Amino acid sequence: MDARDVESDLVNILFTEEQIQDKLAELAKQIEVDYEGKDILIVGILRGAVMVMADLARAFHRHVEMDWMAVSSYGSGTKSSGVVRILKDLDTDITGRHVVIVDEIIDTGLTLSWLTSNLSSRAPSSVEICTLLRKPDALQMPVDVRYVGWDIPNEFVVGYGLDYKERYRNLRDIGTLAPHVYS
Ligand code: IMP
Ligand code: MG
Repeated sequence: MDARDVESDLVNILFTEEQIQDKLAELAKQIEVDYEGKDILIVGILRGAVMVMADLARAFHRHVEMDWMAVSSYGSGTKSSGVVRILKDLDTDITGRHVVIVDEIIDTGLTLSWLTSNLSSRAPSSVEICTLLRKPDALQMPVDVRYVGWDIPNEFVVGYGLDYKERYRNLRDIGTLAPHVYS
């Protein structure tokens, strides 16, 4: 669906489908340059990063391997709990691999800071993070993020994989959720 299908639920449209695709092409290009001559394993964090992974992976003009992890950091609300649990681990042995973690948003940073140190303990050659969105004002843990699409204000956003109670993930654009939806 697109923003018109849920117009009254959104305060604004932050990024359109087209802007998102352009941004992912830019990020893929940067990664291609940085990893020239090296194999890349991109690791998507389920479920929010599904759209970013699918489009980022296809924006590459080279081979990349894809794997997935699922972690829980949120309940069903709009606030991070800070408790991280692995629900699905990698299928790949990342020893000696160049890993790029792909996520759709960094909010408090708790999830990715935990995940980065978890993956780093498995003796990979390198671990970097690529996120489409980041909320700098919400950051509670320092996270070293190599690739960022956009920094956004500290508001709850939905669409393009980002959900509120499992809805809006299939929205093509990214928008700010209207408070009346969650209050
Ligand atoms: P963090 O540990 O607080 O950085 O949480 C990161 C995760 O929280 C993301 O991968 C999202 O699943 C979820 N999240 C954080 N902010 C938002 C938002 O504005 N909309 C939807 N999900 C969010
Ligand atoms: Mg996520």
